[in-house]
Amino acid sequence: MSANAGAADVVIVGGGLHGCSAAYHLAARGLKPIVLEKHVVARHASSASAGGVRRLGRHPAEIPLAQASLEIWHLMGAVLGATGDFRATGQVRVAETEADLKTCEERVALTRSLGYDFEILIDQAELRRRVPAVAHHCLGGIAVERDGYAFPFKTTTAFRHKAEALGAIIHEGTKVIALDRRGAHWEVATNNGVFCAPALVNAAGAWGGELAAFLGDPVPLEPVALMMMASERMAHFVDPTVGAIGRQLSFKQMQSGTVVIGGGFRGRVDRATELTELDFRHLAQSARNAATIFPIMAKARLTRCWAGIEGFTPDDLPFIGPSKHSPAAFHSFGFCGHGFQLGPVVGSITAELIVNGKTNLPIEPFRIDRFDS
Ligand SMILES: Cc1cc2nc3c(=O)[nH]c(=O)nc-3n(C[C@H](O)[C@H](O)[C@H](O)COP(=O)(O)OP(=O)(O)OC[C@H]3O[C@@H](n4cnc5c(N)ncnc54)[C@H](O)[C@@H]3O)c2cc1C
Repeated sequence: MSANAGAADVVIVGGGLHGCSAAYHLAARGLKPIVLEKHVVARHASSASAGGVRRLGRHPAEIPLAQASLEIWHLMGAVLGATGDFRATGQVRVAETEADLKTCEERVALTRSLGYDFEILIDQAELRRRVPAVAHHCLGGIAVERDGYAFPFKTTTAFRHKAEALGAIIHEGTKVIALDRRGAHWEVATNNGVFCAPALVNAAGAWGGELAAFLGDPVPLEPVALMMMASERMAHFVDPTVGAIGRQLSFKQMQSGTVVIGGGFRGRVDRATELTELDFRHLAQSARNAATIFPIMAKARLTRCWAGIEGFTPDDLPFIGPSKHSPAAFHSFGFCGHGFQLGPVVGSITAELIVNGKTNLPIEPFRIDRFDS
C-alpha cells in the first residue's frame, strides 16, 4: 500500500448520487474533494433507482429538504449543464376506496397545518382529467405539481462531471477498508493506497453503517433489495408519476413509451457479495397492482426486472449530518428508498456543514445518534 495516494480537502466515500452531489457542492465552494468508489460511479442504488422526484407523501421531517431540493432540480440544467432528463410531469397518488379518500384528506390537512400547500386533494373527475387511463373504480386522490422523474444514472453523472470540471477527483475501483484520525487529518486506507484530508464524508449507501461504526457511530441499518420492472414500449397513455394510497405502486411512463413499475417490493440481498435475487412472487403482485390501477397494463409485456440495494433505518429516515464521536466527519446515507429526490440538496447541506459549520435546513431529525438510547 502506497503511503499517500492523494491529499484533498475532503474525502468522500461512495460514488452514488449523494457522494457526487457532495463533491459538486464542495468543489463549487472552492474546496478540493476526492470521491472514493469501490466499483464505478452509480453502481448501486443511484442507477437502480426508479428516479421519482417526489415531495408527495414525504415524512414531515423530510419536507423542508424536499422543497429545497426541488428548486435545485428545476435549476439543474443551468447549474450543472445537464438535467438528468428531469421532467416535471407532476405526481398523483390514487385513492380507490372511501377509506383511502379519508387518508388523503388527513394527509393534506397535515401538510397544510405544517404550512405547506403543494399537495392538493383531487376528486374523481379531476383524477380522470389528469390520468385518463386510470381504472374506473378510482375515486380521487392527491396531486402535486412540479414533481416528476429523472434518469438516475444521468443525474448522478451530471453531478459527477460538473464536480470533476470544478476540480474534484473521482477514484473508481477504490474500496475504503479503514479510517484513522491522525492529528488534523483523516487517513483513509484503500486497496489503492492511503488518502488524506481534514474532513470526511460517509456517502456509502447501504454500506454506510460499516463506515459509521469505524467512526464510533454504530447505527441500525438494513440492506434491502428494492425491485423494479419495465415494460416494452407502449403508446403514450399517462403523464404524471402515479402511486396509490392502499397498495404498493410507483408507476411512470417514460418518453420512450416504456413503463417503469416499482413500489417498494423487496427481493433478497447479500450485503457481502453485493448480489440481489428477485422474488417473482412479489413481482407478480407488483404487476397485479399496476394492472389494477391501469387496466391497459393487463396485456402489457414486461421486458426487464432488476433490484437495487438501499440502506433502511428503523424510522425510515436517513442519517444526515456530523458524526457524534469523530471530528470533521459527516454522514449522508440510509435513504430508505427515497433519497433520489433529496440528492441535490443533501450534497449542499453536507458542503455547508463542512465549509460554514452549519446549515439553515432542519437536519436534527436525521442525527446519527438518534437510536443510541
Ligand atoms: C429500486 C430503487 C428504487 C428507488 N426509487 C426511488 C424514487 O423513485 N425516488 C427517490 O427519491 N428515491 C428512490 N430510491 C432511493 C434512491 O435511489 C437512493 O436513496 C439513492 O440513490 C441513494 O444514493 P447514495 O449515494 O446514498 O447510495 P448509492 O447509490 O448506493 O451509493 C453508495 C456508493 O458507495 C459505495 N461504497 C460503499 N462502501 C464503500 C467503501 N467502503 N469504499 C468505497 N465505496 C463504497 C457503493 O459501491 C455505492 O456506489 C430508489 C432506490 C432503489 C434501489
